[in-house]
Amino acid sequence: MPYYCPRCGNKKIIEYSKSFDCPKCLDNEGFPHEFDKEDFDKIEDKSETMSVREKLALLNVFDDELKDPEKRKRF
Ligand SMILES: [Zn+2]
Repeated sequence: MPYYCPRCGNKKIIEYSKSFDCPKCLDNEGFPHEFDKEDFDKIEDKSETMSVREKLALLNVFDDELKDPEKRKRF
């Protein structure tokens, strides 16, 4: 499957074995957005593909909730 940037449609992505970068789309720290190929393959609406950093940010939110003993009871 040909990969392209889910944000800008750029097909000149930098491909790695499990992920790819879009050299045109930089995050707010100036790093290229990196996407997991697995996510890209799985998702129907490609524009919804989350970058690796976005996923990490989400995980951190979950971690914070798990550290809170009151909230942890719900899990
Ligand atoms: Zn892009």
